[in-house]
Amino acid sequence: MKTDTIAAIATAVSNGGISIIRISGDEAFSIIDKIYKSKKGKKLSDCSSHTVHYGYIADGDTVIDEVMVLLMRSPHTYTKEDVVEIDCHGGIVVTKKILETVLKYGARLADPGEFTKRAFLNGRIDLSQAEAVSDIINAKSEYALKNSLNQLRGNVLDKIKDIRQSIIDDIAFIEAALDDPEHITLDDFSNELAKHIEVNVIELDKLLKSSDNGRLLKEGIKTVILGKPNAGKSSLLNVLVGTDRAIVTDIAGTTRDTLEETIQIGGICLNVIDTAGIRNTEDIVEKIGVEKAMKSAEDADLIIYVMDASTNLDGNDHLIIDFIKNRKAIILLNKTDLNMVIDPKEMETLTGKDIIQISAKENMGIDKLEKWITDMYFQGKIDLNNEIYITNIRHKEAIMESKNSLLMVNQSIEDGMPEDFFSIDMMNAYKVLGEILGEAVDEDLVNTIFCKFCMGK
Ligand code: GDP
Repeated sequence: MKTDTIAAIATAVSNGGISIIRISGDEAFSIIDKIYKSKKGKKLSDCSSHTVHYGYIADGDTVIDEVMVLLMRSPHTYTKEDVVEIDCHGGIVVTKKILETVLKYGARLADPGEFTKRAFLNGRIDLSQAEAVSDIINAKSEYALKNSLNQLRGNVLDKIKDIRQSIIDDIAFIEAALDDPEHITLDDFSNELAKHIEVNVIELDKLLKSSDNGRLLKEGIKTVILGKPNAGKSSLLNVLVGTDRAIVTDIAGTTRDTLEETIQIGGICLNVIDTAGIRNTEDIVEKIGVEKAMKSAEDADLIIYVMDASTNLDGNDHLIIDFIKNRKAIILLNKTDLNMVIDPKEMETLTGKDIIQISAKENMGIDKLEKWITDMYFQGKIDLNNEIYITNIRHKEAIMESKNSLLMVNQSIEDGMPEDFFSIDMMNAYKVLGEILGEAVDEDLVNTIFCKFCMGK
């Protein structure tokens, strides 16, 4: 079937760097032939797929911009259609002019999300992946982007598929037994079914919980600032945040509770938690703070350990050093504007961690910290635990419905209802999970029954 050819600006419309105009559809190559010029006069529709070409975009004799053009032939493209991408020099005027030229020569302006819709309709991605892509487009930060990519890679899908498989196996068993009571018995099956349901409900609950986490994660890398009282944690947070949100005082232990801030560093979102200092103390309030500090640091993606470089190490420092040993952490030697008594090299040897010298008060060395964080992040060295996250409201609702249906089955089992009664709710639990994947139900059941129980019949 011939489809119309769509085009859109694929990058944010701003006056910076490079912009990309993407064209997808049967006419993509013939359109680019009409507007692309190169010194040697090459015709792009004659060139091989997945190649890049340098040249100019022109409308007739009027050259618009110097560009690189990427050619990607169907079906190995995002939409499975012929795709052409024009990388131009950016600038709102030029980018729009190129898009206008593409439209003038036969493309239609794409609706929002239409490239992804085509990818879905052409079977390249399933519905949940399509939604993950829309999350990518809307991602607030690189970190959220990574989470969306994980979803694309399918770890949510795998989990949901596993649960569905378990449900359909049980449905198939019931159906097969009802169909063939002589050979397949349902005695004691309710017990087994109840166990399966329990496991699946736990898994669905985990996914549901992760939907809250997922939202949090979209906000950023969980970063905890640890350190003894007075080391300069609040001051650091203030510098990072650029406001006086945390109260800075020089009475040890005033940051009793935890403070939380979201900050952006080089496009990465950090969710920073400033804690009361960890130390052995009988002071009840501070102890609660200490416990909280430990607790919040326990599952942190990154720990920033702030040390007062002008005072000697004590037992509390060793406590923290021990705590961060096997965790992702950076040590900041603060107050380097004062007389330093801690040697950075010795500290590095002692802890095995990277050390950065800063002065929160003088705003020195903060840029080094920022660089360290972005480097680590992009090298993949700061990572969220490789868990599964649901970030999408529709998914969440489907999971909730599935769980409720399974709980109804449990109720039916307890009430001693007949087995064929279970199937209805089981089927609903299965169906709504399938909606996340954009999959239909009927054939699955037929296939499962056929494969598992009717072999050779
Ligand atoms: P926290 O208890 O770890 O949160 O420490 P604060 O941020 O409240 O700082 C404790 C005291 O140390 C305050 O008087 C700060 O002004 C001071 N301070 C923090 N950072 C520095 C620094 O880099 N240099 C100097 N000289 N003083 C600092």
